[in-house]
Amino acid sequence: MQWEKMMKDPLVLKNYQLLKETGILDYMDTLRIDNLGLENLLTEAYEIFRKESVEELVDFIISCLSDKFVPSNLIFILNQGIMVNKIKTVVYKNLKIVDSDLKIETLEPYEKFFRKYTGTTSYLIFESEIDDPQLLTLFSNFSPEIIVPVNGLSGLYGIILFGPKVLGQDYYANEIAYIDRLTRFTSIGIQNNIHYEHSVREPKTGLYNHNFFVRRVDEEIARARRTKKPFSVIILDIDKFKFFNDTYGHLAGDEIIINLAGKMKQEMREEDILSRFGGEEFMVLLPDADRSAAWIAAERIRKAVEDMTTLYMEESLKITVSLGIATFDEEYSDNENLFRSADAALYLSKEGGRNRTSFSKPRVS
Ligand code: GH3
Ligand code: MG
Ligand code: MG
Repeated sequence: MQWEKMMKDPLVLKNYQLLKETGILDYMDTLRIDNLGLENLLTEAYEIFRKESVEELVDFIISCLSDKFVPSNLIFILNQGIMVNKIKTVVYKNLKIVDSDLKIETLEPYEKFFRKYTGTTSYLIFESEIDDPQLLTLFSNFSPEIIVPVNGLSGLYGIILFGPKVLGQDYYANEIAYIDRLTRFTSIGIQNNIHYEHSVREPKTGLYNHNFFVRRVDEEIARARRTKKPFSVIILDIDKFKFFNDTYGHLAGDEIIINLAGKMKQEMREEDILSRFGGEEFMVLLPDADRSAAWIAAERIRKAVEDMTTLYMEESLKITVSLGIATFDEEYSDNENLFRSADAALYLSKEGGRNRTSFSKPRVS
């Protein structure tokens, strides 16, 4: 029965005094408020699951927390890597991101503590249980009051620390319960984001993987058909890499691949999609780029690689790359034809002596 309706019920009105004296009314009021809180939390959880990046998600959580209470500072420490540590630390002071020299390399020292304390915990308990004083001095400037784990399938994903409230009151039990619930949803949201990133990226270079690249090209083909605007792909292959591996070893070769990926990221625009397509083969999708724009981009990469030196075991190693360009127009009906055309262009570069860029012949059957 609804609260307002119930209060009009003659039987309830008759016994109002009794209900008040026995505390039933207060109890119902608490339930009503709790219910409202849970409804809000569900709406927030839904929003959390819709966020497309960890950054967006963290921003949203900050706004949730600022709606409820104002902590003087908040620290988010998140490990966005799974196989390797990739720790990101964000410090908020009065709910604005500030620069901080807080550097954390690994969450490992905190894992034991959070296996024992799985939810929102007083910082005093944390202080009394952590043996290594150096870990505590990291946070001493922030005077944390509570510490919350962000747990995921593969262990501890992060930690959130809350400083004192701006107005100085304690954190109330209902607020702690709210923080606890919100961080549990946050954990799932972050986990989804991290797993998504891992499903579309290749671990060695962090570039997009083959499957994701093909999917993006398909989307681009659909867009190009609609808008009649061209786009291009570049394929890049390391020259004589087998010989390189035989000469310097596979590990030196791996260093080259990582360095090359970094160089490509530097040379390309934000909107270009870079992929490690296979072992020593890379592809770039250049939205909106016609033949001449793609040529300029490909030559920029080629020259940058030519100038690149990779230091490995005190040796300065150099490589060159060959590139092939295919520009989508109506003639290429699907991604297979487009990739075949780029491959044909790459073949021309290899045939022509390597360390060069080529277009494909106009039509590939
Ligand atoms: P070309 O100039 O014609 O491309 O000659 P190539 O030797 O580069 O061509 P080929 O396809 O014969 O050899 C590619 C080599 O790349 C063979 C393989 O061992 C090496 N390779 C592929 N992936 C990796 C990797 O992840 N690490 C290392 N170190 N080598 C790799
Ligand atoms: Mg190859
Ligand atoms: Mg090669």
